[in-house]
Amino acid sequence: MAKYTEAVCRQCRRESQKLFLKGERCYSGKCAMERKRGQFPPGAHGQSRGRKPSEYSLQLREKQKVRRMYGVLEKQFRNYFTLASRQRGMTGENLLRLLERRLDNVVYRIGFAASRAEARQMVTHGHIVINSKRVDIPSYLVEVGEVIAFKESSRSNNRVKELTDALQERQTPVWLSLDSAKATGAVLALPNREDIQAPIEEHLIVEKYSR
Ligand code: SF4
Repeated sequence: MAKYTEAVCRQCRRESQKLFLKGERCYSGKCAMERKRGQFPPGAHGQSRGRKPSEYSLQLREKQKVRRMYGVLEKQFRNYFTLASRQRGMTGENLLRLLERRLDNVVYRIGFAASRAEARQMVTHGHIVINSKRVDIPSYLVEVGEVIAFKESSRSNNRVKELTDALQERQTPVWLSLDSAKATGAVLALPNREDIQAPIEEHLIVEKYSR
């Protein structure tokens, strides 16, 4: 399976924004963006004062930012865009809805993982069940009514225990529900744009792909 090889925190520096790719570390003083170095893009010319970004550059950066946030590679991202443009409604919103419905994102949103990367690992390692059936495909798109849980035999895993113990403090988006005592989550509805509270200007992505 293809994957990112770029240093994780470098991706946030490149986008000049916290993308929360490393779980607990992102909320601590160890976050690279909290340091002086994090205020500049990586690379030899990161600290030089650049020119005003072009329209194309803004569009490209927005697309890269969202792709990195959700941990999706270019080809797959493009496929999501094609699918979104064929659906009814606003293409940008459809795109974000598709990304939010990915199983690895839902596992992360519910609190079964500290980051999307860890969520992806939980899924591929077979720790996650949907309606009691194991699903090990991170890109699986959840449907309304589906119930997500840890596989019974995975509940004794130390990391799983750590995560389930912390569920009480977890706040889930309105389109998902969480039963922290049973460590199960459910999809109540498909997410609306206002439910995805990430600073994303999806119109820039639509403009980029419509060029
Ligand atoms: Fe980004 Fe998290 Fe690294 Fe901070 S710690 S730079 S938010 S990945």
